[in-house]
Amino acid sequence: MTPVSDVRNVIIIGGGPAGYTAALYSARANLNPLVIEGFNWGGQLMITSDVENYPGYADGVMGPVMMQDFRRQAERFGAEFLTDDVTRVDFSERPFRVYVGDDEYRAESIIVATGASARQLGLESELRLQGRGVSYCATCDASFFRDKVVTVVGGGDSALEEATFISRFASKVYLVHRREEFRASPIMVDRGRSADNVEFVLNKVVEEVVGDGKVTAVRVRDTVTDEVSELETDGFFVAIGHDPNTALFLDWLDHEADTGYLVTKGKTTETNIPGVFAAGDVQDHVYRQAVTAAGSGCAAALDSERFLSDLRHKALTAT
Ligand code: NAP
Repeated sequence: MTPVSDVRNVIIIGGGPAGYTAALYSARANLNPLVIEGFNWGGQLMITSDVENYPGYADGVMGPVMMQDFRRQAERFGAEFLTDDVTRVDFSERPFRVYVGDDEYRAESIIVATGASARQLGLESELRLQGRGVSYCATCDASFFRDKVVTVVGGGDSALEEATFISRFASKVYLVHRREEFRASPIMVDRGRSADNVEFVLNKVVEEVVGDGKVTAVRVRDTVTDEVSELETDGFFVAIGHDPNTALFLDWLDHEADTGYLVTKGKTTETNIPGVFAAGDVQDHVYRQAVTAAGSGCAAALDSERFLSDLRHKALTAT
């Protein structure tokens, strides 16, 4: 076991737009943040090609390049990075404890920014064709399928919203859902139905994404007749929900019982434990954009800065 490190002002867990923005603000406030950014730092943007909707990049930017820019900007002001995964936390008392294997890190304040991951169907062909026609974000990638045929899978609000959004670019959109009834709200279903070029393909499960190097079709099986058929398609959008990366925190932090998303208080980033803050997609299943996550990371840094300055003030007035 390595020696216990010094107590930090703030440890930021997670290396995506929220974590790096929190690091930038904390570093510029002279709080010397440690960012435990994860082995696969960068988050969902690392599997995104062109980002055209982040303000400030007038010509667009590749997702991984944008994350390197975020990271470098925080580093310039003294943020430190540990490129590893947190394995355990102990928030029972301050200083809070964060573990990476046997190594213990302690801090007076914690910002949780571990993001969320798009659910995958779990098909080998889906993984193989990621970034080659398989996408998890219509807002990010729809415009690459102008005048092409696209298939969206899912039956919730995300799938309906994505199918409707993509229908503005694509010549044809198949919406494949495994049941007859939708989980999505009726208004979203109506919106999908009213688009001329959206076709609902119901009671079908996707068995394979077909393509050698790029997507050319999707193979589906009918849940009633067992019949197998193929839909010719250029793009395949998986919209079956997201899971927040919150497993490490469920014993400590208030979260939604059914989804696991962390709960923050009002417009702040405060959790149920004073000094522990949550930012970005880990506590937001509504907006889920890089720019909203970055804004939330900024708010968490400001909340944590205020918390630390209150602590210092209390310590001074107590002596
Ligand atoms: P969701 O509501 O959990 O829906 C997931 C959908 O994917 C369900 O229809 C589910 O089918 C299907 N699915 C799950 N696993 C599957 C699999 N392995 N194969 C095939 N289909 C699968 O997720 P969401 O649509 O991302 O929505 C999440 C939350 O965000 C919801 O509360 C939603 O209302 C909200 N949201 C709101 C808006 C809006 O209001 N504009 C937009 C997006 C999201 P079953 O129905 O058969 O289980």
